[in-house]
Amino acid sequence: MVEKVFILTEKIEFVPDKDLERALNFNLRASGYVFNKTLEYSMYRENLVKEFNIGNQYKVDRNYTQKIVKTLRKQKPFLKKADSTCIQASTDRLIKAYNGYNDGRTGFPKFKSLKKNPVQSITLRNNEYHTKEGVKGTIRWQGNRLRLNKLGFIEVKHKRNITGKIKETTILKENGSWFVCIVYEMEKIQPKDEFSEHGLYVGIDVGLTDFLTFSNGKTIQKPDLKKINGRIQHYQQKLSRQKEGGSNWKKTRQKLRKWINKKNNVVNDYYHKISYNIVKHCKFIAMETLNIREMIKSNLSRSIHEIGWGKLIDMIKYKAEWYGREFIQINQWFPSSKKCNVCGEINHGLGREEREWECPHCPTVHKRDVNAAKNILDEGLRVAGSTMLCLVDFIPIGQGKFTYKYEWKCFDKTICMT
Ligand SMILES: [Zn+2]
Repeated sequence: MVEKVFILTEKIEFVPDKDLERALNFNLRASGYVFNKTLEYSMYRENLVKEFNIGNQYKVDRNYTQKIVKTLRKQKPFLKKADSTCIQASTDRLIKAYNGYNDGRTGFPKFKSLKKNPVQSITLRNNEYHTKEGVKGTIRWQGNRLRLNKLGFIEVKHKRNITGKIKETTILKENGSWFVCIVYEMEKIQPKDEFSEHGLYVGIDVGLTDFLTFSNGKTIQKPDLKKINGRIQHYQQKLSRQKEGGSNWKKTRQKLRKWINKKNNVVNDYYHKISYNIVKHCKFIAMETLNIREMIKSNLSRSIHEIGWGKLIDMIKYKAEWYGREFIQINQWFPSSKKCNVCGEINHGLGREEREWECPHCPTVHKRDVNAAKNILDEGLRVAGSTMLCLVDFIPIGQGKFTYKYEWKCFDKTICMT
């Protein structure tokens, strides 16, 4: 079996001690400063070329930003104290922004306002170095503590299953709370206790109306976060009215943290269960490659961020690998929604909001998502070079009030192992 590498992300809240908080704030300011200065220089140079015909057209790349950073370090000695991987990550972000602009995907890079923007972030990269005891990473675990380069340590209560090699961490400051996003590699994925040879063949369509739609018409809804979101909103509003740093403000912040944590846990738990059950019951899983950017353009960005499909798809992907199931992601340009699954005709006039449509050619009446899921399955099978077809049938049973513990039951006894 070919060993595959999966990159996963875990977001965890933490409370830094005074020294670490100072160091993080310093690096936030420093990387923001370098980002803005590099952008300023780049714009200045561009102007010289455009308006005065001085110099050459250039590309904002690593070479270029490194030169600027070097000059800035000479001018502003305080930058020498900043973490170098964090500075580089911030100029890399600018390079990315420029690339997006040059490709016509995004607007021109914007200056960072550290005061107005409530979310601030820095990225620290893991560099390996050799010691007497072997190779060590600059970001590494020491028990339940995560070492962040030279900045300090953070205590992580739930280390969970972060066992792979850490690639980088992004530290986020959101409304006075600190989060760490740990990007890590899952190594050496080998089938655990393998499920039997049996299993179903499914195509899965993701959507906002129905969270997941299976090729046999079953749907799974997204976790019900209404109550939790209500509490979060309540405490966010309360927090904004209170005096920053005061004792009431601190109490409210504590409560807000509790609910944000709860939300993350609920979503994580739900995704783990869904992905586990899909992989358990299905031996062949086809999904689309999501074009998040296109979806965000469609004005639904808030709910898309909240749902975090990418995370769920990652989980299905690595679990499928883990348990020896086949997972196929089909091309993002495949017209899964517009193609009639019965006759193959493509309905170009299909609007975004049409939940049901009649094929102008054959004429079958389709449920939009089910038709799409069927097409995804067919396309997945075509890509995999298989022609088998099978149906899946499972539903969630029971849901606690706040625990959101779903149980799953497969109804096809001939295939189901439970
Ligand atoms: Zn048709």
